[in-house]
Amino acid sequence: MEESALRREDKKVVAVVGAGLVGALNACFFAKRGFEVEVFETREDIRKAKVVKGRSINLALSHRGRTALKHVGMEDKIVSKGIPMNARMIHSLSGKQSPIPYGKKGQYILSVDRANLNKELLTAAETYPNTKLNFDHKLQDWSAETGLMTFARPHGSKTQTQADLIVGCDGAFSAVRKQFLRRSRFNYSQTYIPHGYMELTMRPRNGEFAMKPNYLHIWPRNTFMMIALPNLDKTFTCTLFMPFEEFEKISTGDEVIEFFQKYFPDAIPLIGAATLRRDYFRLPAQAMVSVKCSPYHIGDKCVLMGDAAHAVVPFYGQGMNAGFEDCIVFDEIMNQFNEDFSAVLPEYSRVRVPDDHAIADLAMYNYVEVFSPALWSSGLLVIHSLEA
Ligand code: FAD
Repeated sequence: MEESALRREDKKVVAVVGAGLVGALNACFFAKRGFEVEVFETREDIRKAKVVKGRSINLALSHRGRTALKHVGMEDKIVSKGIPMNARMIHSLSGKQSPIPYGKKGQYILSVDRANLNKELLTAAETYPNTKLNFDHKLQDWSAETGLMTFARPHGSKTQTQADLIVGCDGAFSAVRKQFLRRSRFNYSQTYIPHGYMELTMRPRNGEFAMKPNYLHIWPRNTFMMIALPNLDKTFTCTLFMPFEEFEKISTGDEVIEFFQKYFPDAIPLIGAATLRRDYFRLPAQAMVSVKCSPYHIGDKCVLMGDAAHAVVPFYGQGMNAGFEDCIVFDEIMNQFNEDFSAVLPEYSRVRVPDDHAIADLAMYNYVEVFSPALWSSGLLVIHSLEA
């Protein structure tokens, strides 16, 4: 087992585990403060990878996410590569389209490319001389007493490193969180919803977007729905949310077309029948989990942020945005308590747990309601709300 001592000079070492969206942004926040930042990511460097595996291709960036990006000077760069969505566009069964604005004239949320956002944040983190990105490092175990972490490397070897603070940003199935589960008075719950999701691509038509680009398109169908967000390459990523048992009922290309003919007839010529027949079977539908826990810290050694602390179902469009806001809230508490981890960490749990739990609850309420065409036409729904 190879051993490496991370401590350089007398600066405190912060290990960020997970270089997804929240981990990469958080690395910038800690680097800006002058800590020695070591980021550990199980995947290879996605900036060099041929295929980037992961969840949704694009996501909606709203006010709270933008504010966090602004703190590390990244807002303009990300916004310039986003597509404004001023309203939702509700598609009825008959093909009628009705816009529902997000806010006042000129207000919008942004459709951003997940992989590009992640890459830009990694590059931003790397520009700090006090930050090191370690890819192909999968956290296996760590000690809450010493801060010693054990990582698995690609060819079966292991490496150990130590940090003053471990920041768990390793997503909904967090390995950092496993230590919390072994401790007394840690509350934890996880719920898988009966729906899964599947992504389909709507290609450009005659070099232009196949639908109006500045909208989040929604086809609500009572017990399931499809949404579509625009991409810079003039495609739309369509996401079908449906109970797993319904996905499983469709097993042939003809059945896919029959299903779309019944529920999303206007989408067939836009996606293309041949594409639908093929792409529906490319990947199985993916599960969605909601995770709630508290507290978010252990002593002065470890803190959870992003999906590791609060994975939410995506019907409020706030998972990443809330994770980004975690970074700002932590940063503000660091100012308040002069970077004293023994005071900052408990205060962070105290302040942040209720807010994150509220977002998880809102996302669950929306999950129940968002499929209803009647509620959409009543104007009572707030999916991807601007203020949030
Ligand atoms: P992740 O993105 O999961 O990143 C975790 C990272 O940790 C990964 O890089 C992973 O490889 C790494 N890792 C995992 N285990 C280890 C380990 N043991 N050691 C080292 N590294 C490890 N949010 C929004 O705000 N707006 C949206 O519109 C939106 N749409 C969504 C649509 C769908 C279909 C889904 C599923 C989610 C959506 N979300 C949305 C939620 C958003 O995707 C998540 O909240 C966000 O990705 C959380 O970021 P994260 O960095 O905390 O976790």
